[in-house]
Amino acid sequence: MRTLGLLGGMSWESTALYYRLINQGVAQRLGGLHSAALRLHSLDFAPLAALQAAGDWDACAAELAAAASGLRRAGAQALVLATNTMHKLAAQIEAEGGLPLLHIADACGRALQVAGVTHASLLGTRFTMEDDSIVRERLVQRYGLQVSVPPAAERALLHRVIYEELCRGIINPASRTALVALIDRQRQAGAQAVILGCTEISLLIDAGCSPLPVFDTAALHAAAAVDWMLDTGVETPGAL
Ligand code: GLU
Repeated sequence: MRTLGLLGGMSWESTALYYRLINQGVAQRLGGLHSAALRLHSLDFAPLAALQAAGDWDACAAELAAAASGLRRAGAQALVLATNTMHKLAAQIEAEGGLPLLHIADACGRALQVAGVTHASLLGTRFTMEDDSIVRERLVQRYGLQVSVPPAAERALLHRVIYEELCRGIINPASRTALVALIDRQRQAGAQAVILGCTEISLLIDAGCSPLPVFDTAALHAAAAVDWMLDTGVETPGAL
């Protein structure tokens, strides 16, 4: 088994999901007492979120690259960055941290392609929905997808729910109702599927309540990590 570096804490709510999913995936594939060979670096999200809000992405990149480099020195052979938003810095973290990165958009793009989806709606933080360089561009260019995002007022609502509720472990039924209505409007506008493009959204939305088929980036990313850990003949991709 290859050793994975998991860079998390952004937020720890979704890192806990990654940790469980990756271990479950390895146990299912190898059986017995097998579990994931991984190194975990979980950061304090408060100062990072403050840097994001202030637009100081260089400081975020420095912090994440240093953590990636530590994971490499601790024996990790590739990196999973357990957040969509911080993929804004993927290339920098990969170059400065010295570990090839398993990109979250690749895991999602492949799954959408396999499912025959051509038009998906992307939900995430305001950063992820408004900065195409984070995941949207990659989904469009590498996987030929049409990717739409909700209108500005709905993006603001979603951003607030992510940072003020989900990243703090708060599950608010009223927010679920609002998100289901939002997804339904995306369906009416032509989307065939919804991308949960923030690793915490699955805490609130799943296939049971969503008006559209759900593609959860956290679960797909974790599954791709397991494939990479166990399919050791496969070349390790990277952010670029
Ligand atoms: N985990 C979230 C994401 O997938 C948001 C937290 C962050 O800004 O990193 O984008």
